[in-house]
Amino acid sequence: MAAVPIPTRQLFIGGEWKHPVLNKRIPVINPATEEIVGDIPAATAEDVEVAVEAAHSAFNRNRGKDWAFASGAFRAKYLRAIAAKVVEKKEVLAKLESIDNGKPYDEAAWDMDDVAGCFEYYADLAEGLDSKQGTPVALPMDTFKSHVLREPIGVVALITPWNYPMLMATWKVAPALAAGCTAILKPSELSSLTCLELAAICQEVGLPSGVLNILTGLGPDAGAPLAAHPNVDKVAFTGSTATGSRIMTGAAKLVKPVSMELGGKSPIVVFEDVDLDKAAEWTAFGCFWTNGQICSATSRLIVHESIAAAFLDRLVKWVKNIKISDPMEEGCRLGPVVSGGQYEKILKFISTAKSEGATILTGGARPKHLNKGFFIEPTIITDVTTSMQIWREEVFGPVLCVKTFSSEEEAIDLANDTHYGLGAAVISNDEERCDRVSKVRSKVAKAIKRRVCNG
Ligand code: NAD
Repeated sequence: MAAVPIPTRQLFIGGEWKHPVLNKRIPVINPATEEIVGDIPAATAEDVEVAVEAAHSAFNRNRGKDWAFASGAFRAKYLRAIAAKVVEKKEVLAKLESIDNGKPYDEAAWDMDDVAGCFEYYADLAEGLDSKQGTPVALPMDTFKSHVLREPIGVVALITPWNYPMLMATWKVAPALAAGCTAILKPSELSSLTCLELAAICQEVGLPSGVLNILTGLGPDAGAPLAAHPNVDKVAFTGSTATGSRIMTGAAKLVKPVSMELGGKSPIVVFEDVDLDKAAEWTAFGCFWTNGQICSATSRLIVHESIAAAFLDRLVKWVKNIKISDPMEEGCRLGPVVSGGQYEKILKFISTAKSEGATILTGGARPKHLNKGFFIEPTIITDVTTSMQIWREEVFGPVLCVKTFSSEEEAIDLANDTHYGLGAAVISNDEERCDRVSKVRSKVAKAIKRRVCNG
């Protein structure tokens, strides 16, 4: 598939392209070739200052009547126009995503469909806001009158990771704009190209200036001053637990609201009554889709001991058939991981597992047919104990670790043996059992959370 030229963009502030004050740039590396294919601007605290000011004046312009307190229908028009442009530019956007992030072109194209759908969805909600405004609330006495006003919180900082670059950004930008907030988006420095194209789209559809500002740059240089800025009214963050915790600590000092979507080490429990082929396919999908670079990737397989050998046999066959190639190649199902840093980190997880006594059942290295690029074979690790790093810590790569169980209670205990509690999956032909097991999980997860909160 033909590549696309990488546009050279600047920061998007107040509806204009602005060079970063310190004029720094960050190289863009194609993870499939390890070549530098372009660069993005590197914002710093100086640019954050200008962007926050732009977002503030957009929020307050004409006493808010131009955006924040305009009708939902008015804002929806822009969201729909953005959606239409994403559809129009889908192929170019998907190619840029694929080159920047390493995900197969087909997957990137599906992401773009989701991006457009998400803008449409929040356009509907924005329109719906108008009829809900001032909804009366029934009170038990008639002395007081009460009604609900839905108002935007103000200027919001949206900080996102690299695994679904444009989609993650959209999940934050679309609701913020629908609600009437003005926003500053800081995408991950590892995959920012499509977010800069989102800026170009906003310009093309005539989004009022300053409503959405986009600052690319490093976390500590651009993300940290943005999250800590006193004139940012809320921070919405998706990324690692370590960064999220840092941002929350800073926000607590300013009593600033935050919303956090963080890491995971999710279990998938496979019972003895499953169709082995179907269950193997779902297990592979749960852990290896997007190279396991998904917060809710089910990266801990907990399989009934009576089927473990047959099941693993099928699973290994399944993953060995996954086509690993340049993500722009026809039929590619698995591309490289996003960066050299992630590549090294994932291989280190695998070598630590080996040194702790685990067995690499399949994978564990770069595929033999590829001599460059950050490619790692789908890896399955057995002989794992619950104290091993590979069982406890998020890899965020194509690595599945396996444990067996003999009773439902044991499966539930193993599934809940994590401090994350982000997602979980259960596979069985017995629907009642699936319901029962998944409910126990949520109860226990809450108990775990309480324990963490109580120190
Ligand atoms: P990360 O925490 O390194 O970076 C996320 C974003 O925060 C990036 O834009 C980065 O530049 C910025 N950042 C880094 N340091 C910062 C700081 N000190 N202050 C402010 N911003 C800072 O995470 P990542 O490596 O980009 O993403 C992978 C992580 O994201 C994984 O842990 C994954 O589980 C998680 N994730 C969670 C969800 C979810 O919905 N729960 C979804 C996707 C990814």
